[in-house]
Amino acid sequence: MPRKALKVLVIGAGLAGLTLAQGLRRQGIEVEVYERDTTPVDRAQGYRIHINPSGTAALRGCLGEELFALFLDTSGSGGTGLCFTDHRLRPLLSLEGPRNPDPSRTHRSVCRVTLRHLLLRGLEDTVVFGRHYERYEERADGRVVAHFADGSRAVGDVLVGADGSRSRVRAQRLPRIRVADTGAIGVAGKLPLDDALRAWMHPPLLASAHIVMGPQGSRMFVAAHEYRTKPSKALGLPPAGGDLLFDTDTDYLMWAVTATPGRLGLPPDTRLSGPPQLAPAVRSLVGDWHPTLRRAVADADPGTLTALPVRSAASVPHWEPSRVTLVGDAAHCATPLGGMGGNMALRDADLLSRRLAATEGARPEQAVLERAVGEYEAAMRGYAANAVLSSKKNLERSLAENALSRAMTLATFRMIDRLPPVKRRMAAEAGG
Ligand SMILES: Cc1cc2nc3c(=O)[nH]c(=O)nc-3n(C[C@H](O)[C@H](O)[C@H](O)COP(=O)(O)OP(=O)(O)OC[C@H]3O[C@@H](n4cnc5c(N)ncnc54)[C@H](O)[C@@H]3O)c2cc1C
Repeated sequence: MPRKALKVLVIGAGLAGLTLAQGLRRQGIEVEVYERDTTPVDRAQGYRIHINPSGTAALRGCLGEELFALFLDTSGSGGTGLCFTDHRLRPLLSLEGPRNPDPSRTHRSVCRVTLRHLLLRGLEDTVVFGRHYERYEERADGRVVAHFADGSRAVGDVLVGADGSRSRVRAQRLPRIRVADTGAIGVAGKLPLDDALRAWMHPPLLASAHIVMGPQGSRMFVAAHEYRTKPSKALGLPPAGGDLLFDTDTDYLMWAVTATPGRLGLPPDTRLSGPPQLAPAVRSLVGDWHPTLRRAVADADPGTLTALPVRSAASVPHWEPSRVTLVGDAAHCATPLGGMGGNMALRDADLLSRRLAATEGARPEQAVLERAVGEYEAAMRGYAANAVLSSKKNLERSLAENALSRAMTLATFRMIDRLPPVKRRMAAEAGG
């Protein structure tokens, strides 16, 4: 039963939108989510995602006891340590996540499809699939109207754009914010983690996630994902039917390389390359790397090979608050290098739901709502602006093609490895 006469419209049922909906429901606020996908598994969501302690704490804030326990239960191992090596797997820097006894302050590795199913739990009457948002209109009575491609509309008191890096809500609300392709692309693949793989695998690659700094502007992220409890069992999901891309039950090893299309010998438009082009491109990129990495690439299931452009916001500038706001990639698209985007999306959701819940009165006035939105946006900018910049720097470092820049990067990692306080700080938030 809503505790406030307040309705929030959320555009996008991704990580940010669903977590926000969970948080708002928990706070007794009415929410409706509109998603253009027609089902939760319309498209590949990517593989596993690294949730750091701030992301886990945000989930703890938004989910009820039962759902949070399910999140812990269905997350995978392999999310605690992070090692940096060169392309011959020679160690550079090893970060061990703090072993916090409080489960809401730990690193987790979670399958994206599983997480989406989990976040949809209890929201069956709240999320409308197959609804393509087009634009909004602010009415004189203080309410906001969302318009959809099928001619339908929804009316609420606050509109939240959780519609990802190409956000249409942002395009109308803050047209001066720029999010663009960085000129790099990512190509990922996965292979089942079974006894056959264990027999040839370099053991440290199964013990912690690895970032491999390759030569001439290339980088590879490698991580194992082993389920604690099979998600299909815990969540009652139908079996994936042998398709490893959408499979939520089979333990796996994944890798993802980042480089320029030129370095990979692929066209810049990732939609033009399917598995037949991606497989030889990555094999050639890692041609003189450690044999285990070469084999991980060669043995990847071809059906799982996917390519994505790497996008980033130019910055997260200040704007005046209104009853239309943004969360997740719509607000602060960061490159995946550093594994921060999803964690910030969770943090935004927790923050915004609390700020809206803390407004005075059962039916807050417009000025009160705008103040709450402004408080959320100020706090969000505090962590997001830095994260966007540092993830861009991570990318620039990884793409640097000249040998001197690379040598300096490797030397910096080796130096940090000898500085325990710096390592501890990095380990607290580290991700892929
Ligand atoms: C390869 C890769 C690896 C990553 N790894 C990590 C990691 O380990 N850790 C981490 O923290 N982050 C990671 N990230 C970043 C993370 O995935 C994103 O930051 C996160 O998914 C953002 O969530 P979101 O809900 O804001 O956006 P999205 O997940 O993009 O969701 C947006 C939703 O809005 C919907 N939508 C869009 N337009 C409309 C419309 N017009 N009408 C209706 N619905 C619409 C979309 O269909 C989608 O469901 C990674 C990113 C990539 C690309």
